[in-house]
Amino acid sequence: MSHTTRRYDTLAAARNWNPQANGDFQHMNIKEVFGKYTLTLDDLRERLPKIVWKELKKTVEEGQELDLSVADAAALAMKEWATEMGATHFTHWFQPLTGATAEKHDSFITPNQGGGAVSEFSGKDLIQGEPDASSFPSGGLRATFEARGYTAWDPTSPVFLIENQNGKYLCIPTAFASWTGEALDHKTPLLRSVETLDKQTKRALSLFGVESKRVTSTVGCEQEYFLIDQEFFYRRPDLMTSGRTLVGAKPPRGQELDDHYFGSIPDRVLSFMLEAERELYKLGIPVKTRHNEVAPGQFEVAPIFENCNIAADHQQLMMIVLKKVAKKYGFECLLHEKPFDGLNGSGKHLNWSLSTAEGMNLLEPGESPHENMQFLFFFSAVLSAVYKHQDLLRIAVASPSNDHRLGANEAPPAIISAYIGEQLEDIIKQLLNGGLKKSMKSGLMGLGSPVLPTIPKHAGDRNRTSPFAFTGNKFEFRAVGSSQSVSFPIVVLNTAVAEAIDTMCTSLEKKMEKKDLELSLKEVLVETMSEARDIIFNGDGYSDEWQKEAEKRGLLNLKSTAEALPHLTKEKNIHLFEKYNVMSAREIHSRLEIAAEQYVTNLNIEVDTTEAIARTMIYPAAVRYINELTEAVKETGDLGLDNYGSKEMLTTVNGALNDLGKAMIELKKVQDDIKNESLIGLCVEYREKIIPAMSKIRDSVDYLERYTADDYWPLPIYREMLFVK
Ligand code: ADP
Ligand code: MG
Repeated sequence: MSHTTRRYDTLAAARNWNPQANGDFQHMNIKEVFGKYTLTLDDLRERLPKIVWKELKKTVEEGQELDLSVADAAALAMKEWATEMGATHFTHWFQPLTGATAEKHDSFITPNQGGGAVSEFSGKDLIQGEPDASSFPSGGLRATFEARGYTAWDPTSPVFLIENQNGKYLCIPTAFASWTGEALDHKTPLLRSVETLDKQTKRALSLFGVESKRVTSTVGCEQEYFLIDQEFFYRRPDLMTSGRTLVGAKPPRGQELDDHYFGSIPDRVLSFMLEAERELYKLGIPVKTRHNEVAPGQFEVAPIFENCNIAADHQQLMMIVLKKVAKKYGFECLLHEKPFDGLNGSGKHLNWSLSTAEGMNLLEPGESPHENMQFLFFFSAVLSAVYKHQDLLRIAVASPSNDHRLGANEAPPAIISAYIGEQLEDIIKQLLNGGLKKSMKSGLMGLGSPVLPTIPKHAGDRNRTSPFAFTGNKFEFRAVGSSQSVSFPIVVLNTAVAEAIDTMCTSLEKKMEKKDLELSLKEVLVETMSEARDIIFNGDGYSDEWQKEAEKRGLLNLKSTAEALPHLTKEKNIHLFEKYNVMSAREIHSRLEIAAEQYVTNLNIEVDTTEAIARTMIYPAAVRYINELTEAVKETGDLGLDNYGSKEMLTTVNGALNDLGKAMIELKKVQDDIKNESLIGLCVEYREKIIPAMSKIRDSVDYLERYTADDYWPLPIYREMLFVK
């Protein structure tokens, strides 16, 4: 019988990679490359009549309504640019509630009967598209006979070109809604939340005597990902269907040695990064940092922050580019939150702050934060928002894949709290004790050797265990999952903070009828922080004490998606989104339904794949090995040889195989027994019954992996997959 010589495949992809074939990036001129494939407002200035450009600028920068004549002129300019660049098609590019992006291409040139061609792309084509919406999730917002859906141009996010070796096409960022005007996507609520946040923040700023044209939240997302050899990916049905390994024993060496984090980047990986970065530059995505992450095979890339809407679009593009370029280097890029059991998962730290169009970061504490009342105002508003809407923040990161990460001592716990550092905690304490007197100084730090420089020390240490941490002049929401769209987390932050600012302003305005600004402000801060102080936690988020302490404080601990989701439609949340025109009750209900459906669908895919792997790959491999052992036992017995070891092995493998058989039957039974009328009820049953039954199969398979002859084992194992070279 012939077996695959699996072990030798390990090197195949690395061997096939030819460093010379992928171009020279050393001589890349970033200035020339950056933004080459996007048409920004600045670029349009040269291509549009002055008056038209000014109108468009007002729409983009100040939220003014768009005129059709402006759209016509913009469409013409875009088509000219795109065709000059070699594009043949255009598409509205949108973000349905699947979490991915969607596109439907149309050619700029339509062939006609006479053998000629007409060129078509008007303002109308730019502004509105009409893809058939019936295949996108709508969560009941659309009856099946009402298939119409519309895409609408978002002029605030620049159009861009996507390229492959055979051509290019123009992508127009759009919102996507049903014909009743209800959002079927992530962008629409995001743009609505931007308006609300702008309005409330400007109202607050005016009380401080600051004028601004526009205030938005700024967002920078640190993206973590794994790279494995593509060959292994295609040999693992679980990675292909569900994005994670559903079986696989822990390798003898994982991340214990801590030698991968910030280590030197392997050559092929670095080449991949250089090309991916160049592609991102072309799209105008300002990537800045790259490094190895904690687990072997894990890496991170982070851009410079941008306004939240563009950052969200760029985040989607970044995931697409990483996946695409990885393949050119023989890698598969895994964005799943937990591709490998027992190793760190991947997140996407969402850095969030507030900035005026004039460039003032409203969360910049300055040298002496205790005197910076404007900073303390916005800082407290964020803490209050997080306190009031812990549930929404938790829901915004809830998915079956992220459930493997949150609370698993490698990522923040499922309890939402905020880390603010020693200096600011001290200031909040002073505030609540009746006076703001001083800011603890950051100071300098010597390193004990005269040749090393004295370096400035931050006023607070970092805390990796907190789900929501203040890191200098921005908050970092760390519970976000690596594969998810960042839009909904941003929507929640924007809206919740807008509400907190609104509440604080109302109180402030009232007090100022009788008192001066300074006194009124202090009172408002005390009011706000007396209520919200329980959200502050600077300690170890991984510890058991924190679980108890959080419970005492009455903080929510929504351990899984199934537990978190039902909170979405609570009265408080519907009120929040409706009051600020971000989402209607119907839109919120639809999102709950879609999320619950996706939860069940994803788990069903995992169950089916686990069963198929167990039945058609693992079981047969173990049986073959048992046969071989049986033969050995028999033959050695016939010869009167000592065969204690073979017998022992046979018993072990046979026992494990029986356990696997039992676990498979058990899972089938659990599946058959599940009947639940409500979708949420179904999620809970999946969480409580299906997931544990699946784990049992995994346990048996992973046990068998350790005992079955290596050349019989049909799947690439962790040791092989994890150490990319
Ligand atoms: P850290 O090392 O504390 O994580 P970095 O400077 O490396 O800080 O930034 C991490 C991410 O935070 C980057 O994507 C960066 O663009 C983003 N970031 C920095 N300042 C802001 C800000 N004001 N608003 C939003 N994101 C920001
Ligand atoms: Mg960071």
